[in-house]
Amino acid sequence: MICKHCNKEINLNYYITVRDRLIETSRCFECDFWVNMVRADRLPANDARFIVTPEYQHYRIGDSQSKVAAHRGSYGRTFIVTWLDTTRMAVKTNDLWSQGEIPERHRHRFTPNGSPKEAPLKRRQTHAT
Ligand SMILES: [Zn+2]
Repeated sequence: MICKHCNKEINLNYYITVRDRLIETSRCFECDFWVNMVRADRLPANDARFIVTPEYQHYRIGDSQSKVAAHRGSYGRTFIVTWLDTTRMAVKTNDLWSQGEIPERHRHRFTPNGSPKEAPLKRRQTHAT
C-alpha cells in the first residue's frame, strides 16, 4: 500500500487502531502525523498554543500544572515565545513540547508564527523569598 502524500510504501507495523487509520486514509505514519497536527492546531483550544518557527520546527505550549519539572514539556525548562506578529504578547512557559521538524513536503500546510527561546537559568534560590 502506497501513501497518497509521499508515494512511499506504508509501514503497517503499528498498533491496530493506528494501522486501521493508515489503511483508511492511505497515509504513511509520518504524513498522518503532520496532517493531524494541522487539524489539531486549528482546534480553538490550541489556537494560541502552537508554534511554527521560520525553520519549521513545531512546538506546542502545554497547560500542565505539575510541580514536577520532568512531567512538563522540555523537562520544565523555561522558554519565552515571541511571535512574528509583534502585536501579540510574548508568552513565558515551562511546559513546551516539541513535535520536531516539519518535513518539507508538509510545510505548505503550516505558517511560521513565532519562536521559543530558552530563558536564562536563574540561580537556584536557597530559601523562600
Ligand atoms: Zn507519506
